[in-house]
Amino acid sequence: MRGLYIHIPFCKSKCKYCGFYSLSNYNGYISQYIDSLIKEASEIQNRNFDTLYIGGGTPSIIDPTMLDKLFSELFKIVKYKDTEFTFEVNPESFTIDQLRILHKYGANRISLGAQSFDDYVLQYLGRIHKKDDILKSYEMIRSFSDHIAINLDIIFDIPGISKQNTENSLHYLKKLQPEHISAYTFSTDTDYFKNIDSKDSEEEYMLVKDTLSQNGYTQYEISNYCKQRYHSRHNLLYWNMNEYIGLGAAAHSMLYNENGCRVRYSNPADLNTYLSGTFSKEINHISKEEMFREDVVFGLRKTEGINLDFIAKKYDKNFSDFINNISILIDEELLTVNGDNLCLSQKGSLLLDSVQQYIWEL
Ligand code: SF4
Repeated sequence: MRGLYIHIPFCKSKCKYCGFYSLSNYNGYISQYIDSLIKEASEIQNRNFDTLYIGGGTPSIIDPTMLDKLFSELFKIVKYKDTEFTFEVNPESFTIDQLRILHKYGANRISLGAQSFDDYVLQYLGRIHKKDDILKSYEMIRSFSDHIAINLDIIFDIPGISKQNTENSLHYLKKLQPEHISAYTFSTDTDYFKNIDSKDSEEEYMLVKDTLSQNGYTQYEISNYCKQRYHSRHNLLYWNMNEYIGLGAAAHSMLYNENGCRVRYSNPADLNTYLSGTFSKEINHISKEEMFREDVVFGLRKTEGINLDFIAKKYDKNFSDFINNISILIDEELLTVNGDNLCLSQKGSLLLDSVQQYIWEL
């Protein structure tokens, strides 16, 4: 499996909590940026991909004519098997004309950045859409085609905001029945919310988990739930340590070299450098020992955990040392062993960062 990710680093305005690479002063740059994306794509000519994900930023900021140009040029260069093609949209900027273009090129999954169904909370987070924009976009996609799966992103456990926001989001999720839900606990990469006390996450996490599982959703990753067969194949690529190539400013790639070792590449997080067309990449070679830790740390995000037998064979490693080293996490009931699989417990899910940190530093 191999995925292609394309980063669109433009947003109408910057949300207060966001640390992603995206710019709100983008006027006049989109056309140039698409030309640069096509140039960069020509460097990976004829590669095959199983999944395609257009994310951001705000991909739905691109007008239909330019979207048409992007896809018509892109699909002349890269080969994409018709499996999963996701396009991220923000509710305030998504139009029927964009949807028609996406449909024309085979997009079969739309990820809608809802975040909350409460206008006050949206404003508090610095989002520029309203609840009605979410409902309008959702309805537009649903009535356009039955063959487009919808993901809704929501954020819960927001400092300074009551549990009612989470209950309200769950109310709308039950009503709308999207095929996929990404429910993230609040995290911020900015200083904006730093003086507001963080909350005890457990109650809201359990509320989300229990409500969604009682309503036909399977949790398959710490923040991701889906109806049967609608898991995100592209995101699973990251947790399963499969190859992916990222195009665009600040995009990342991971490929295996001839020795079976991972190599990570990062594009410059700078629009002008990217537009200059050099696409110079920072390269990071990952050792076998680091690969092993990555497999464990990323794999534990999945509900099924990691298969110890598979990893032991892959790294020709005696697992008794590793199990001894992490026995404290098992004793503290943060990790559990189910047959051949090592998984996060419920308590471990709530303390994921600390569990990952511990394993990373072993
Ligand atoms: S829309 Fe998304 S990428 Fe853009 S500023 Fe908001 S959180 Fe960041």
